[in-house]
Amino acid sequence: MADYILAIDQGTTSSRAMIFDLKGQVVAIDQQEFKQSFPHEGWVEHDPEEIWQSVCHVVKGALAKASLQASDIRGLGITNQRETTVLWDQETGQSVYPAIVWQDRRTADHCKTLKAKSIGQEDADAVVKQKTGLLIDPYFSATKMNWILENAPQAKALLQKQQLRAGTIDSYLIWKLTNGQSHVTDATNACRTNLFNIHTQEWDEELCDFFQVPSDILPEVKDCAADFGVCDESYFGAALPIAGVAGDQHAALIGQACFKEGMSKCTYGTGCFLNINTGNKPIFSEHGLITTLGYRINGKVTYAMEGSAFIAGAVIQWLRDGLELLKSAKDSKAMAEQARDQQVFFVPAFTGLGAPYWDPNARGAIFGLTRDTGKNEIVSAALESVCFQTMDLLAAMQQDGAEFTALRVDGGMTNNDLAMQMMADIAQTKVLRPAMTETTALGAAYLTGLQLGIWSSLEEIAELWAQDRAFEVAKDKDWSQQRYQRWQAAVKACQVFSGA
Ligand code: ADP
Repeated sequence: MADYILAIDQGTTSSRAMIFDLKGQVVAIDQQEFKQSFPHEGWVEHDPEEIWQSVCHVVKGALAKASLQASDIRGLGITNQRETTVLWDQETGQSVYPAIVWQDRRTADHCKTLKAKSIGQEDADAVVKQKTGLLIDPYFSATKMNWILENAPQAKALLQKQQLRAGTIDSYLIWKLTNGQSHVTDATNACRTNLFNIHTQEWDEELCDFFQVPSDILPEVKDCAADFGVCDESYFGAALPIAGVAGDQHAALIGQACFKEGMSKCTYGTGCFLNINTGNKPIFSEHGLITTLGYRINGKVTYAMEGSAFIAGAVIQWLRDGLELLKSAKDSKAMAEQARDQQVFFVPAFTGLGAPYWDPNARGAIFGLTRDTGKNEIVSAALESVCFQTMDLLAAMQQDGAEFTALRVDGGMTNNDLAMQMMADIAQTKVLRPAMTETTALGAAYLTGLQLGIWSSLEEIAELWAQDRAFEVAKDKDWSQQRYQRWQAAVKACQVFSGA
């Protein structure tokens, strides 16, 4: 019996394959890192062929660990690093240039020029925001695609021969898995390109013109649970339907079963990503947040807002590896528990500030030091800084009109009970940690199961969400407001003391 689902989680630093049973429980995981290239300052590249090989390797690895054959697998789903862009030759499947990764800033000057232009009678920025929910920024795929078109030696010739294909990592992997039978993507990956109109749910010709990316090299856009093609049996030993696809943060929203308006999840890894389900209407932020799709299922779009902070778990890494204040990230809990109650505030603006400030020049600082401030107080302030940054994002979402209920959390840092309690107290909201924290891969598995009829509805999937622990608000509102005001003052000071 084919009683398992395979999820491929193609991330920024590693590829993972996870096998789930039909109750959504993990049976096996395999993971492989791959090379990061930094050929110039601000450039970040991956080798698409190496990504493809790593995916094949981990799928075989997970099957072996689970002692399963591919014929035991009902279908596969993909979740992936978003925005990262590949262009390839449709005859050979060879990429014409390395993948340009989401972190890559090489098109910053191009974006500046584009921002100063208009589309029709309106400012380009405003039109792009209205149509896509995004800013004009090197982060998104359009200017990366254009850069490859302009700079990869074979790109133009292939384009003229109508032999060039473009896409995000999901599209590239599906092309490979199906031996070139499918050139497709899902709506969540499409909505991160700057080319996809989130209202019409189509590639937008006006934007394709503006960014100089021909729409005929782009993939067909499908729902997140759909028929994306069939993985050729030569790869893993059986022909597997590819039935679920979503970008990583969208998959995590699904894996956390945030299916009702107002439900939100925050993923705490190196940085943190907060996404809130805003139902059937897009909310356009006045506070630096992005409007995005939550997911698209059965042709029905559920919108989301997204805010991210660059430094979350990374502040603990820095204290561990940079300052050597602690031996391992998990020591942060015991140390912070010993901390004296002090007014120490740590703003980890190491690479500027993300949403809602968008200040690339801000630099980090620790405020409120006294003679008796020690390691413990600094570690505690570092953990709190992650909570305050989440609070910044939640406050911005509320000011933009999104109502939120409890916060569901996942990612490495959520193992820290103290940090999660601080989160509840500072944000004055219940924080819910699920039993299953591999939410990204789980989201891809859920989509696959939905398409293949293993689960019949999102309601049925929501029933599978199980709580590990709820962190209730234990401090009063005045305490939280006072502390938050001091945090905001600290952020202001960091913006004044700019690195530029
Ligand atoms: P990523 O996927 O971005 O690599 P993970 O979800 O694996 O991130 O989370 C790793 C991050 O979480 C690291 O930055 C680490 O410092 C932090 N982290 C892990 N465990 C803890 C802990 N117990 N307390 C605080 N931070 C932690």
